[in-house]
Amino acid sequence: MSRRRSWLEPRPAGLYCHAGDFYIDPVRPVDRAVVTHGHADHARPGNGAVLATPETLAIAEARYGERAGRSLQPLRLGETLTIGDATLRLAPAGHVLGSAQAVIEHGGERIVVSGDYKRRRDPTCEAFEVVPCDVFVTEATFGLPVFRHPPDADEIAKLLASIQRFPERTHLLGVYALGKCQRVIRLIREAGFDQTIHLHGALQNLCKLYERFGIDMGPTAPVAGLPRSALRGKLVLCPPSAIADRWSRRMADPVTAVASGWMRVRARARQRGAELPLIISDHADWDELTRTIEEVEAPEIWVTHGREDALVHYARSIGRDARALHLVGREEDEEAA
Ligand SMILES: [Zn+2]
Ligand SMILES: [Zn+2]
Repeated sequence: MSRRRSWLEPRPAGLYCHAGDFYIDPVRPVDRAVVTHGHADHARPGNGAVLATPETLAIAEARYGERAGRSLQPLRLGETLTIGDATLRLAPAGHVLGSAQAVIEHGGERIVVSGDYKRRRDPTCEAFEVVPCDVFVTEATFGLPVFRHPPDADEIAKLLASIQRFPERTHLLGVYALGKCQRVIRLIREAGFDQTIHLHGALQNLCKLYERFGIDMGPTAPVAGLPRSALRGKLVLCPPSAIADRWSRRMADPVTAVASGWMRVRARARQRGAELPLIISDHADWDELTRTIEEVEAPEIWVTHGREDALVHYARSIGRDARALHLVGREEDEEAA
């Protein structure tokens, strides 16, 4: 047993730091939580003291109100805080607005808990920072060599080409409410689409929150109250689950699309009812995962969730000591991927 296992360990409630007496992204309520980002499988309601970036705290409050935590302590990206016998710094993870890696040091050792992350450019959040460390804790949502995400711009171009080709049809695009929605809107804007984008009610609050943090969505309008004729030829964004829902019947002969890393898998695209699957992910693909494991130069790799086995095998093949933690309670990432 190496010494570091005595100050950070997986417990049923989540990863626990003895040196600072806090959990990271606990799956059940705890007294003191450090939260890496706002997705529901990482930020959960009912904790006591919650420490996170100001953006993540705002997202948690928007979702949970008073149940976001008894006390909320903001720590900006790049700032360092001493907690008990540990120091904590939050480094950007490039996943969604406010997403952070927890960089924890104690007794001359550094452990980085990366939460969820990606390496490609995202106009809605700060880029992932490579932090060299002794132990790197990584996700493996797309931890198989078959998962290689194409360039985002190519996927957005497919959507815009379809809108041009079918100007009389509604384009209905399924996007996860936190992160994917706002990133896809920014990418669409960057590609030159300046028309009004219509939003399902479940997407509006987080879009407003992103705008409060300075990320411009361009012209948007609610879908609610509009007749079928008004949505003809429009681009409408909704949660992926709404595509198969009664709600979507108000659309005029819709072209249905979904933006997710899972759209690589044809069966999933079919299951989601996506005629136009767009492979756009907020998680690292296989190349990004393996590149990151190499760049952080950590002799030890812990894999928290996802397709752990292939990544553990890869890390061992390049001489790292690697193991799967099999953390539970991360299943909602199916939607957020
Ligand atoms: Zn996430
Ligand atoms: Zn996750």
